[in-house]
Amino acid sequence: MAETGRILVAGGGIGGLTAAATLLQAGFEVAVFEQASVLAEVGAGIQVSANAGRVYRSLGLMDAIEAAGVLPDAYHFRIFDSGEVLQTIPLGTGYRERHGVPYVTIHRADLHRLLVDKVRSLDPAAVRTGSAVASFAEDGDGVTVTLADGSTERGAALIGADGIRSVVRRGIAGPTEAAYTGDAVWRVVVPMDRLPPEHRSRTTDIWAGPGRHAVTYALRGGTLMNLVGCVEHAQWEDESWTTPRPWAEMRADFDGWHPMITTIIDQADRDQCFRWALRDREPIRDWSTARVTLLGDAAHPTLPYMAQGAAMAVEDAAVLARALARGPGIPAAIALYQRNRVDRTARIVNESRANRALFHLPDVAALRAAFDKRDMNAERSAWLFSYDPTTVELLDA
Ligand SMILES: Cc1cc2nc3c(=O)[nH]c(=O)nc-3n(C[C@H](O)[C@H](O)[C@H](O)COP(=O)(O)OP(=O)(O)OC[C@H]3O[C@@H](n4cnc5c(N)ncnc54)[C@H](O)[C@@H]3O)c2cc1C
Repeated sequence: MAETGRILVAGGGIGGLTAAATLLQAGFEVAVFEQASVLAEVGAGIQVSANAGRVYRSLGLMDAIEAAGVLPDAYHFRIFDSGEVLQTIPLGTGYRERHGVPYVTIHRADLHRLLVDKVRSLDPAAVRTGSAVASFAEDGDGVTVTLADGSTERGAALIGADGIRSVVRRGIAGPTEAAYTGDAVWRVVVPMDRLPPEHRSRTTDIWAGPGRHAVTYALRGGTLMNLVGCVEHAQWEDESWTTPRPWAEMRADFDGWHPMITTIIDQADRDQCFRWALRDREPIRDWSTARVTLLGDAAHPTLPYMAQGAAMAVEDAAVLARALARGPGIPAAIALYQRNRVDRTARIVNESRANRALFHLPDVAALRAAFDKRDMNAERSAWLFSYDPTTVELLDA
């Protein structure tokens, strides 16, 4: 039988909120502690593939996500300057028919708001802002969390959904720094009506080029264009996704690229270009104790080169809620959850890393040759998009 008792969640990002919603829906009492004083996400896009979409559907959110986002027709892999299409993953009606849910691109703030509203509809008091988790202590019956203001909270279990610099992870796996990967990531969002009609694309496009790549897709019903640019930079500073960098640096990083990319940058507000130094950790196989576990970036930070980091957090949340509902007892449930998530998340971490090398190949001939050997649609459909975290069999050993 499942053990009852309050489940504490550190972090109110996409992973923590999805965990809270799935647990509340399963009948658990939940308390989410978010360090920020206001619940929010950065102004950038996020891709929601079917493996994550099935969890949102189980929460009754998929229609709202669809309405707030864009359903791209296709996912193209392109050459950075000519725009030549190397491969296509169809994302239109065939994708929905095959996977049961559509592929959606959505503004992070919109997705986050839908999750906050969902959690609050299930329990208006579940999320506490301005509540940074500072440390935790575990005993045979539960976990006591100490917040930054010195107050304490008691629960039956603690889920660390507190991102790549996770305090909860430090308590479980020790103090290791997340290492700089050598890539810095630009983000910019531009009103679609600033772009010429031929650049108002409704596809999701990866633009691969020497030492860098870009990703473009539409948001908010096609009223915004999102551009992410991943650039190899030997030097890095401790950057933040909320501190603007000089526009001219971003423009210079994509000099000579396809007009689709340069036009978006040219149309960006000069003080609205942001850059983030990408950090990474080696995958670990044990991210839990008896009553404390991790999910999402806290457990397995993933380079954004498959657009799967948040999807993994969402999958984790659904599988963890199912394991806790099954029991018997929290330690067994946490062990079951981890056992069923380690291999899949490590595969995503490793394949995302491999995509860095693929997307950044030094010349067009090498890019063509590498993509000729791949079938991205078959590969991703077979094991990535087809995974259903809400029904996948949870194996005991
Ligand atoms: C450029 C880029 C593009 C991406 N695109 C995609 C995509 O298209 N699709 C996709 O699936 N993924 C994508 N990702 C990955 C995705 O953004 C992350 O994997 C995802 O946001 C991780 O969610 P999380 O909830 O685990 O962590 P986070 O989003 O980092 O949330 C952690 C939360 O915990 C809070 N917190 C931190 N410390 C504490 C503490 N001590 N106490 C309390 N609260 C705390 C933080 O304030 C934050 O709210 C992308 C990433 C990048 C960089």
